[in-house]
Amino acid sequence: MPTPRDPVADLRRIAFLLERANEATYRVRAFRSAAATVAKTPPDELAARVEAGTLAKLSGVGEVTARCVTESLAGEEPVYLRRLTGTEGTDLPAAAAALRAALRGDCHVHSDWSDGGSPIEEMALAAADLGHEYFVLTDHSPRLTVARGLTADRLRRQLDHVARLNEALPDGFRILTGIEVDILEDGGLDQEDELLARLDVVVGSVHSRLRDDSARMTRRMVTAIANPHLDVLGHMTGRKVAAAGEGDAAHRKARTRPPSDFDLEKVLGACLEHGKAVEINSRPDRLDPPKRMLTVAVEAGCVFTIDTDAHAPGQLDWLDFGCERAALCGVPAERIVNTWPAERLLKWTASHA
Ligand SMILES: [Zn+2]
Ligand SMILES: [Zn+2]
Repeated sequence: MPTPRDPVADLRRIAFLLERANEATYRVRAFRSAAATVAKTPPDELAARVEAGTLAKLSGVGEVTARCVTESLAGEEPVYLRRLTGTEGTDLPAAAAALRAALRGDCHVHSDWSDGGSPIEEMALAAADLGHEYFVLTDHSPRLTVARGLTADRLRRQLDHVARLNEALPDGFRILTGIEVDILEDGGLDQEDELLARLDVVVGSVHSRLRDDSARMTRRMVTAIANPHLDVLGHMTGRKVAAAGEGDAAHRKARTRPPSDFDLEKVLGACLEHGKAVEINSRPDRLDPPKRMLTVAVEAGCVFTIDTDAHAPGQLDWLDFGCERAALCGVPAERIVNTWPAERLLKWTASHA
């Protein structure tokens, strides 16, 4: 008889690959909840249920996930998983692969405390599996109510929670505290100063009034960049591009958005003057900044982060996309702050405030 495989690992791997392929988080949830249920079920009971064909009677397990578990326990790679691994991406070009290998972490990650789909600990375990040394947890700020932005009180509670989680996480991986703070219309940051000062890393992004005229948008961004709490300027143009996954081509096209208008030279000048990083956002529906702007930023001498803006564990693997663009535009590894060890990264952010 073939050796049984680990059905929980197989279900999680399926979820991870679906997320990486940009499937909507709710469609992946079936696999994550089945994994959680199977992990809690004693092996004897699982075997008995396979025998009796009653796996799908367990709460959180459906027909599709039950078939995966059955195949896995029979020692076969589940058909569903085999289909997904058959379509895995091609290898990265060498320069991009070198950047990817140099990255030690990710500075822009969401959890289910705001609009992410998974608990912080699941994101952390997936990141540790990918070989990350750290990520910065950057849930949204209060004003972004559609994304369940964290009030000051909830952020305080999150900080306590993260401190406890860090005790329990595998050696060699840690969660750094942070926020993706909304850049308000006047350039202010949407969270209490005292809290922003406590956080390890502050990513600031524009999420509203993206069609404002260039003078107004430039003033808003430059004011935020000059704020000592801000460390990284997130997805600078706010554009949305048609990405694979989620619905058909027409639907994806309808979700695109042009870049905001602003004075690139002034914005990059502010980043240079105040020593702030320009984010290279790897999300396939963002890929922000566009390559022509990224090239200007490289020539200007800016520093960068390469981030995933992940909202689910599998999306943590999107760093490849950012690395590809960074390599194409000639970003040197030394100028990417998340190639630095956590201690150096923290020294750099502390130098701002
Ligand atoms: Zn954002
Ligand atoms: Zn984000």
